[in-house]
Amino acid sequence: MLKVGITGGIGSGKSTVARIFKLLNVPIYNADMRAKWLILNKPSVKESIIDLLGSEAYFHSGEYNTTFVAGKVFEDQNLLIKLNQIVHPAVKIDFEEWCFNKEGHYPYVIKEAAIMKNKIGLDHIIYVYASEEVRLKRILSRDHRTVEAIRRIMEKQFSEKEFRSISDFVIDNDSEMLIPQVLSIHKKLIS
Ligand code: ATP
Repeated sequence: MLKVGITGGIGSGKSTVARIFKLLNVPIYNADMRAKWLILNKPSVKESIIDLLGSEAYFHSGEYNTTFVAGKVFEDQNLLIKLNQIVHPAVKIDFEEWCFNKEGHYPYVIKEAAIMKNKIGLDHIIYVYASEEVRLKRILSRDHRTVEAIRRIMEKQFSEKEFRSISDFVIDNDSEMLIPQVLSIHKKLIS
């Protein structure tokens, strides 16, 4: 069973592309959603976050205090690195366990993630491309975010060149139709 990554910058269309693969019966692992779940539900992750940031990282109700955490890591870059060192390995293990349960049932599975620095643990990477201007327009009509906030996130993410350098397939979600591109990649992955 192949493990295939889908990545791309904010608003590039990763989830939209993943939804099309899902229609082809390909299981999708959403790394951001699973990270949020693990932060809330995996005791070892929760304990490590409290050790790092203090008990205010969680409300009494058990909810994650994202405002508090965002403030802490914004002040101190080192804390952000350490927080990622807690969450990223937990997601890696969770993904491996998820894959183990799918083994033998599907020709390939997909991991969708905005952060995919290299191909480690994956057989292929699909990069979803759309220009910054197109992404900005789409995000503005999807989210309540300011142009400045979106640009700040874009600046921190991989550049188009960096994304292309780690990818085996590129889906153009700027000016091309998505479905034929997804079908073409799907055919290659199952052949
Ligand atoms: P994020 O990085 O924020 O998780 P994403 O890469 O998963 O975003 P999507 O949520 O799939 O991106 O797409 C961003 C927005 O653009 C959504 O509102 C989606 O419906 C819209 N969109 C995606 N592809 C297209 C397209 N080809 N034409 C028009 N709108 C699109």
